[in-house]
Amino acid sequence: MQQKILYASTSGKAPVVGFREALFQGQPPDGGLYLPTHIPTLTPDEIEALKGKPYREVALAVLSRFLEGDIPAGDLERITFDAYNFEVPIERVVARRYIIRLDRGPTASFKDFAARFMARTMQYYQSREDAERIILVATSGDTGSAIANAFLGLEGFRVVVTYPIHEVSDRQARQMNTLGGNVIAVASEAKFDQLQANAMRAFEDPDLAGLRLTSANSINWCRLMPQIGYHFYGYTALETEKGEPILDAVSSGNFGNVTADFLTMRMGKPVRRILVATNENDEFPAFLETGIYKPIRPSRACLSNAMNVGNPSNLRRLFALYGGRIDRNGVVDRLPDLDRLRRDAVGISISDHLTRLTIRRVYEDYGVLLEPHGAVSWAALCRYLALREEECLSIATETAHPAKFPEPLREIGVEPELPPSMKGLDEKAPQFVRLSGDYGEFKEFLLGLGG
Ligand SMILES: *Cc1c(COP(=O)(O)O)cnc(C)c1O
Repeated sequence: MQQKILYASTSGKAPVVGFREALFQGQPPDGGLYLPTHIPTLTPDEIEALKGKPYREVALAVLSRFLEGDIPAGDLERITFDAYNFEVPIERVVARRYIIRLDRGPTASFKDFAARFMARTMQYYQSREDAERIILVATSGDTGSAIANAFLGLEGFRVVVTYPIHEVSDRQARQMNTLGGNVIAVASEAKFDQLQANAMRAFEDPDLAGLRLTSANSINWCRLMPQIGYHFYGYTALETEKGEPILDAVSSGNFGNVTADFLTMRMGKPVRRILVATNENDEFPAFLETGIYKPIRPSRACLSNAMNVGNPSNLRRLFALYGGRIDRNGVVDRLPDLDRLRRDAVGISISDHLTRLTIRRVYEDYGVLLEPHGAVSWAALCRYLALREEECLSIATETAHPAKFPEPLREIGVEPELPPSMKGLDEKAPQFVRLSGDYGEFKEFLLGLGG
């Protein structure tokens, strides 16, 4: 067995921990985020050997590099194969330009990749202990359903998912409140920020310690690491010369998706460049250009709403990968190596207008359906290539199913068909607890679960 990989905080003040602690602790106490102290690599021959392999095998090969020494091979295989029981289609659009559809999981967004793996990893450790854990998640939409679905039916866990009843769509609410089983949906009158604050308070409330409340927050290292799997697969599934580099365009909001791709590059995937594709929240593209980082507050409301982030939390990791340091408020403590970062990456911001136009054009020219998040990375790819003479192997991420964001397609007369996971959602009977958003009331409710 290799030596276990350890995890250090990007703020550098908290103690270094093992995988299990990083998983259950979520966030180091010093305001940073966990990153491995050593990034494992794959040799060109090892990458060559993964060419053409099914998704789950590529994912296993990659994830085992991080988890050897922590989870025995047989268990890790079971966890990985059980998490990835859905297709990962790659479609050629034109020339050597592809899209990878990351939308075939149970909630039709790419967040299923991370959520399902994390849930099963937690269960792996949990099954050896007695008391049940309660996963507590406050959500403004997609994260809650991905987490709730990921833990659905997993023994040893209950999920409490709280959402602002006035801020989520009916369909989003149904993806949480029609699951039943070990998932309890809490519909609240309050706004998301209040629910988030309540959840934070609950984690720290000594009266609730007996409930073993556990966070499945998006900044957990185990919500990032599994995404390395599909960034490798987007390369190994395509026909390439040995060592031929690929151009990646990555839909970016909180930068989990794109940070995973930077890690994939460090692990040895041949990458020409990473295009960090954002919507009109262009704080990072502006930073790459000027060297000055300014968060956008409040964030701009764009069509690709899961990418409406004006100060991505994973910047802490991305800066650290390039020797820099930034805090959670977006204050730069030490600049990253900008020359190197600019060699590896280009930031491209796409307007809502171009997002809509792209959805129309890609459908009319190639018969390919995109939704806004995928259209942003596709448009970034096309803009970048339009400025160069040479066509090259390239891929863009489609992060949600077009039926989840049907409006821009309806505008051009296309009604995307619901994926199997979303069919019948409208007929199922919702079940939820309704609360005001007051902390005291929420606490009483949680205490009631313990008995
Ligand atoms: C969360 C999300 C994104 C953004 O991903 P990050 O990892 O936060 O950058 C993009 N598209 C969809 C559909 C999402 O749900």
